[in-house]
Amino acid sequence: MTSIDLARYIRDVPDFPVPGILFRDITPLLRDPRALEEAVERMSTPWLGRGVDLVASIEARGFMFGGAMAVRLGCGFVPVRKAGKLPWRTCSVRYTLEYREDVLHVHEDAVERGQRVLVVDDVIATGGTAAAVVELVEKLGGTVVGVQFLVELAGLHGRDLLEGREVRSVLVL
Ligand code: AMP
Repeated sequence: MTSIDLARYIRDVPDFPVPGILFRDITPLLRDPRALEEAVERMSTPWLGRGVDLVASIEARGFMFGGAMAVRLGCGFVPVRKAGKLPWRTCSVRYTLEYREDVLHVHEDAVERGQRVLVVDDVIATGGTAAAVVELVEKLGGTVVGVQFLVELAGLHGRDLLEGREVRSVLVL
């Protein structure tokens, strides 16, 4: 597959959802079949043969990559969701986002003790969301193999919250 400049498919939207935030819009990438395929491929390849049992990702944009990656890796998928969305008993954690505070939930039987879990999201900004998912997976007894993003906003140093983890991103902006 010829390499595509995926950065060209990320649209910068100033002052969304609140003033002062430069939002990285992935929808141009999602609607282009070759860019989407290459993004999923480049997010998945480092984890092939790594014994990943489950991809855990975060609603809503994380799901767009996490589900496809789970198929590519031949593993299962675990949705991590906002409060009130999951129908079964949940385990939860509070976290701080670049522009608000929130709670994330996962079904308490979503991860079996010792299962190897890859955490996936579209963008890492402050790192708070991914760190919360790592905490949730470990609360359930899972082993976090690593954390994969499409886009890393390097200036926000989100990686610092994931110190000691294998953190990968396809694009550093
Ligand atoms: P954080 O917890 O600060 O790393 O924020 C990451 C989460 O918020 C991801 O789920 C992103 O989808 C979203 N997010 C935060 N900041 C941005 C941004 N500047 N552009 C796009 N998405 C963002």
